[in-house]
Amino acid sequence: MPIDATKPYDDQNIFAKILRGEIPNSTVYEDDHVLAFEDINPQAPYHVLVIPKGAYVSWDDFSANGSDAEIAAFIRAVGHIAREAGLTEPGYRLLANIGMDAHQEVPHLHVHIFAGRPLGPMLV
Ligand code: 5GP
Repeated sequence: MPIDATKPYDDQNIFAKILRGEIPNSTVYEDDHVLAFEDINPQAPYHVLVIPKGAYVSWDDFSANGSDAEIAAFIRAVGHIAREAGLTEPGYRLLANIGMDAHQEVPHLHVHIFAGRPLGPMLV
């Protein structure tokens, strides 16, 4: 079910549990502010989710309320992960779903990184 991204942060969401180590994950990157792990239901040969460690529901919440250090770390981490995985060529796609119409399912900000096959034109 898609979530209402204006709701307060729910610390029982699945990514909060992953961050607390209550649910296992396949980590590909971690630093003080960021965790990245493989999506459990990959939609491309490479499908990684990048999340801030802070409690932010969505891009709206993070961009409004995240600290400069958290936001810089997050954006740098996404680029670092993609470069380290050798994705720059032939390329990759970043996607963040925010709220109901975008069908955001997990109420903790996440950016998807898709790669590993031609992804085609973006469909909305
Ligand atoms: P959204 O639709 O919110 O942008 O995407 C949520 C993503 O989280 C989906 O691609 C889904 O497969 C992934 N996901 C949901 N539960 C888990 C989980 O427990 N572990 C991992 N690694 N990914 C999950």
